[in-house]
Amino acid sequence: MSLSTPRGLPTLGFGPSSRRATSISAWFAGRIEPVTTAVNRLFVLLCGFEIIPRTISTRGRGERILISVPITAYLLDTDHGWILFDAGLDEANLRDPARLATNFLLKGWDPPPVVQDHHEMEPQLKHIGIGFEDISAVILSHLHADHSGHIKRLGHADLYVQRREMEHAMSSVAGPAWFARDYDLPGLRWHLLDGDHRLMPGIDLLATPGHTPGHMSALLELPETGMVLLAGDVGDLMENFDEEILPGEASDDAEALASIRRINRLVEETDTTLMLTHDPNLLLGLRLAPDYYG
Ligand SMILES: [Zn+2]
Ligand SMILES: [Zn+2]
Repeated sequence: MSLSTPRGLPTLGFGPSSRRATSISAWFAGRIEPVTTAVNRLFVLLCGFEIIPRTISTRGRGERILISVPITAYLLDTDHGWILFDAGLDEANLRDPARLATNFLLKGWDPPPVVQDHHEMEPQLKHIGIGFEDISAVILSHLHADHSGHIKRLGHADLYVQRREMEHAMSSVAGPAWFARDYDLPGLRWHLLDGDHRLMPGIDLLATPGHTPGHMSALLELPETGMVLLAGDVGDLMENFDEEILPGEASDDAEALASIRRINRLVEETDTTLMLTHDPNLLLGLRLAPDYYG
């Protein structure tokens, strides 16, 4: 069987696994090419809720309607260690009154997000039997505060982000949803990516810019569940994909629409399950950690 990397997808840091052959690369390479997945289990971490005008999720739809959307992160058990997809929101930014004011209320992020004790990431990891120290790599869809909160506890891990995202996040034009103190920290092990990238067999990172300049998604292959696409904030709601509706805020509308269409095409052409970060209806049908998808 071929274990080669599809054209244009460099492999970085992780070798092939030997468990089973799949066709995850078909969509990338335009041909069926057997690939072996190193992913064993996928856990859904529910990390809190945001109460937002519906227009934040769906451009021009529902200005007066407030919706409560989950903050979701995902944890992967792989042959090469535990890998986190997004790092949730740091509850410390909410618990401390001064940080609550500066990070949220004074910026107009009001009401602020809700992170109850059982939404905190650490106890959820503990239920699975691990801690932050056991996580070897983190894939960051983008660096908004609801996706980058716990980076500060993952200084030992390899952090994967698109170069365009990092450059924007570190610049003076980054908006109020970027909390530099959550990620502009010394000693972090950043790996800056330029476009699509095969992290390991069974994990392909897709550049899906538009919501932010360097947004990316992750296409996974699971042993039983099959292909799963973690689409981050390309669209908060399934409605964004079903009706090709732009997110409320985008760094580039044309890119945001192209990314929605890229994901729709992938889902149409392959048997892929779409999992989002912020869709409350989708959440109702998901198994939450410590349950998992094999
Ligand atoms: Zn975002
Ligand atoms: Zn988000």
